[in-house]
Amino acid sequence: KPKHMKTIGLIGGMSWESTLVYYKLMNEKVRDALGGLHSCKIIMESVDFTDFEPLMRADDWTTIGKKLSAIAKKLQNAGADVIVLATNTKHMVSGDIEAAITIPFIHIADTTAEAIKEQGLKKVALLGTRFTMEKDFYKKRLTDKHGIEVIIPNEPELTQVHDIIFNEMVLGKFTDQSREIYKGIIAQLQACGAEGVILGCTEIPMLISPTDVDIPIFNTTELHVKTAVAWALAD
Ligand code: GLU
Repeated sequence: KPKHMKTIGLIGGMSWESTLVYYKLMNEKVRDALGGLHSCKIIMESVDFTDFEPLMRADDWTTIGKKLSAIAKKLQNAGADVIVLATNTKHMVSGDIEAAITIPFIHIADTTAEAIKEQGLKKVALLGTRFTMEKDFYKKRLTDKHGIEVIIPNEPELTQVHDIIFNEMVLGKFTDQSREIYKGIIAQLQACGAEGVILGCTEIPMLISPTDVDIPIFNTTELHVKTAVAWALAD
């Protein structure tokens, strides 16, 4: 047992549907590790997603970076020992956040990469928002820092993956129809050589489970939580 459980600073709300999963998993993992009535020490700021969505559409990552840095700093001042940002997409501004705080920031792409390397996979597919799939901040980190080759869907599938996230999943809608679409896209990527698939949006694990596909899945929400809790419990 650790002498002192550290406090996780959780930035949530994008969407709250997956933040709920973070909260639940963090508590379950601490309970499983320590037993008894133990639960996770968390300080959370859950944002209004509406304050961010127009900024994303306008590609105004400078403002998003400023807003999330301010929240991270607030959580640090409130006593958080580490910052966890509960969305893949907003890791676009991880550099801004890290520059604003003196406590560690646990990067979701790194926690995912560790699991991929553990399984010895070299080439994986990445599903997430358009930003996560297309921009460099995620793919390039996996390739340059971790030596993992990453492939993404072509159009029109790429837009389909993105639209299902924004029109359904962040609103808590998980349909059989969308599951079939995702399964089809994953099968295509598998045919292109993907040995595994990163569910690189924190809501996708609520739609796709390991039994839905033939290749290993990397659940970014769960892997992020696992590393954060291990960190909070380490001496
Ligand atoms: N939760 C999603 C993610 O992990 C998308 C929402 C967002 O734009 O932050 O990327």
